[in-house]
Amino acid sequence: MKAESRDNSTSFPIKNSLEAARQEYQYNYTLIPSVAMVETLPEKEKFPREWYYLLAQSLKVIFINTIITNRGNRGSLSVGDDVRDFILEAVVKGAIPTQFSVASRLLQIIPQMLLVGFSKDFRELDDLFFSLLRESGVTVLRDSVERIKQLMYEGQPTGQVQNLRDYEKLLPQIALPALIHTLNQDDGFAWMQVAGYNPVMIERVNSLPNNFPVTDEHYQGVMGNDDCLADTIAQGRLYIADYRILDGGVNGTFPRYQKYLYAPLALFAVPQGNDPHRTLRAIAIQCGQNPGENPIVTPNSGKYAWMFAKTVVHIADANYHEAVSHLGRTHLFVGSFAIATHRQLPPSHPLSVLLLPHFVGTLAINDAAQRQLIAPGGSVDILLSASIDNSRVFAVKGLQSYGFNSAMLRKQLKLQGVDDVNALPVYPYRDDALLIWDAIHAWVSDYIGLYYQTDMDVQQDIYLQRWSQEVGAFDGGRISDFGQENGHINTKLYLIDAITLIIFTASAQHAAVNSPQQDLMSYAGMVPLAGYAPASVLLKSEVTEADYLQLLPPLEQAQKQLNILYLLGSVYYSKLGNYPPRHFTDTKVEPLLQKFRKQLQKIEDIINQRNLNRQPYTYLLPSRIPQSINI
Ligand code: MN
Repeated sequence: MKAESRDNSTSFPIKNSLEAARQEYQYNYTLIPSVAMVETLPEKEKFPREWYYLLAQSLKVIFINTIITNRGNRGSLSVGDDVRDFILEAVVKGAIPTQFSVASRLLQIIPQMLLVGFSKDFRELDDLFFSLLRESGVTVLRDSVERIKQLMYEGQPTGQVQNLRDYEKLLPQIALPALIHTLNQDDGFAWMQVAGYNPVMIERVNSLPNNFPVTDEHYQGVMGNDDCLADTIAQGRLYIADYRILDGGVNGTFPRYQKYLYAPLALFAVPQGNDPHRTLRAIAIQCGQNPGENPIVTPNSGKYAWMFAKTVVHIADANYHEAVSHLGRTHLFVGSFAIATHRQLPPSHPLSVLLLPHFVGTLAINDAAQRQLIAPGGSVDILLSASIDNSRVFAVKGLQSYGFNSAMLRKQLKLQGVDDVNALPVYPYRDDALLIWDAIHAWVSDYIGLYYQTDMDVQQDIYLQRWSQEVGAFDGGRISDFGQENGHINTKLYLIDAITLIIFTASAQHAAVNSPQQDLMSYAGMVPLAGYAPASVLLKSEVTEADYLQLLPPLEQAQKQLNILYLLGSVYYSKLGNYPPRHFTDTKVEPLLQKFRKQLQKIEDIINQRNLNRQPYTYLLPSRIPQSINI
């Protein structure tokens, strides 16, 4: 609100300007901490070496792709020439390490590595590379990375796109997302809700919210005259994605553009009938919570109005995804358990033995995230819609509103009303996630059965009870709604469910939201991370292609989005069920583990089979699920 020097809005005299008071009473939201994180990252939590190799492989792809995009328009130069030229330039301009010996040795090996790749086959080269980096010292390295980044982005395409295809020029070395071809088709849009990057949003509609006045006319314009809203609701076929948590968010402006966040509502329906392949269809979108300010847009509102509205939903979905579904409800959620486990369970405790492989790299990536990714000036600040402060608040809200006991997969699906396979037959995330949940549940149940025979055994395990207390405690992990009674765990059954949820979230749930960053979310022409035009554009009598293109990110933003999300979505370190060799010293565990792994193999086959009969959904293939959150 603007401070007025003279205020005529009251019937009584106002003498002083509020400006001085506002200066004196400035808000600060950072003084009181809210999320349980580790104060200093312990030495043994640092990323394993293998992880760096995988990261380096992805960085290589991004690096080459970016250099070709930004400098490659020079005729017929090859990938190798461009990269070599770049490295020479980086050395001359002092971006590559200052120590001469390190620089010259790096120069010898980097071109080979970039072309051949970092891999196990070239371990000697890799070892040389990493030892050189170590020799060059961390400070020099950090400076170098910054200068190399600056150099890498020199000459990048900038500004608004004139055509959707302009984004394709950003991918000379990376494949376009397969779904790009369904971008402008409505089934592709609805598919995102059940098999996309944030497939946890939709809820069954029991009655339409008052602030979303969709009519039968809207509905029948899409679904035909022999169906109506009342029947659709009565038969449990109407679904909504409501992004109200984003309402009132503060629009970001970093680094130099006005960005917009939206809190849309989107309505979907399953057609009538018994066909098990009936897919969700998009009915209507309202781009904000207030119907007075936001028209209802349908496929019949005009091509670009509908594209604009669908993209607004993608943008809201992406902001919700990163802050709530991804950071809040997987990374930070599991981080609390990782810390409490180290603090309360001795390393030889059977639950510690089971859980620790599922926490590898989690505290390290969370620490890196709070220091860089979600820090002022970091990628979230640059790319997402809201101000950095607001994005962080969304993550905290997402975590705090995620009650542990209702996060159990079946309970969660039931709460959202999406558990009925007859009403909502095609929901690949739900169907595949349930397979994995049950497999983990059986494995945890078998394992826990080795050490706890009765509920009494659970109640009398003093370590377990202290762990459980700490997880939910205000001066502990701050996980909401944890435990059965005052944070205690009283039954074996609850213990099995709780450990299942932790392992499921650390593995499958994270994979479901992390992997699509690479192929669905990295492409700004499909899923922008922020909007660049207000939703009020939809109030115009006709929304044009130019209006639509203005909503989309400028090219330099699109390139940064591509690079960071490709990186975050392409590192697959470790695999669900692959515990380190001889990890379990108790010989009774081995046959149970074999059973679990066999079951995962069976699920792999089932999902592959399912993918023959549907648009493929691959994020929950067990072979693509890492053991832990580490990226
Ligand atoms: Mn992640």
